[in-house]
Amino acid sequence: MNGSAELFEHHAAALAAVHQRVTAACLAADRAPDSVALLAVSKTFGAEHVIALAQAGQRAFGENYVLESLAKIEACADRRPDLFAGWPAAGACAWHFIGPIQSNKTRAIAERFDWVHSVDREKIARRLSDQRPPALPALEVCVQVNVSDEASKSGCAPDEAVALAALVASLPRLRLRGLMAIPAPDEEPAGQRQAFGALHALFGQCRAALAALPENPARDFDTLSMGMSDDLEAAIAEGATIVRVGSALFGKRRQP
Ligand SMILES: *Cc1c(COP(=O)(O)O)cnc(C)c1O
Repeated sequence: MNGSAELFEHHAAALAAVHQRVTAACLAADRAPDSVALLAVSKTFGAEHVIALAQAGQRAFGENYVLESLAKIEACADRRPDLFAGWPAAGACAWHFIGPIQSNKTRAIAERFDWVHSVDREKIARRLSDQRPPALPALEVCVQVNVSDEASKSGCAPDEAVALAALVASLPRLRLRGLMAIPAPDEEPAGQRQAFGALHALFGQCRAALAALPENPARDFDTLSMGMSDDLEAAIAEGATIVRVGSALFGKRRQP
């Protein structure tokens, strides 16, 4: 695929198909279709792919690798100022960081992104808050939880989630929005639902604990970021409010 018209056609069709899956999953779960937001995971795909999908109407993009994402964010803003005007955080396109965070990369994330889904330890939370530029709105944050133990190294342990959520909520330049997880891959919908259900249960525990704090940070705690191309239906059945979809939109990734 070379021509931008061709790219647009391809991505617009893929976007419509994913929207259909999300809507069908919502209806099956007796949920309103607009209760689930679609995050387009554009890692390993160039700016031209992001722009084509933005032209088709998509507004939120997820990235995993800091260096790759910075170049892409600049390229998008340069090439399509109308679509990316006002970035960051002005209702144009929003950029979400969803990958593992090294502490030497927090400044770039704090300066360039609107959301971070992958905060999994106190040190990273504190650095992001300290480094968020005063001119920008607070960084929207989800705490990442490792719901399937050894399968993935990222995410705090489930029994650390309440404390880490409360810490994030207390930091001045972060706004705690919810929880995120990447369960171990499971071909069986029942197994997928079990992992997502565990995150939803933990979300309820966090909410209750936050509601008991004097500042009541539970007010903004409304996000369950879970579900990808292969398991978004199970995630929606278990209460996902953001699904993070890459390959179903952009096609198969080459290894970075
Ligand atoms: C790559 C990635 C996704 C998207 O995965 P697909 O299976 O391609 O939809 C979602 N979330 C995270 C954190 C990822 O790293």
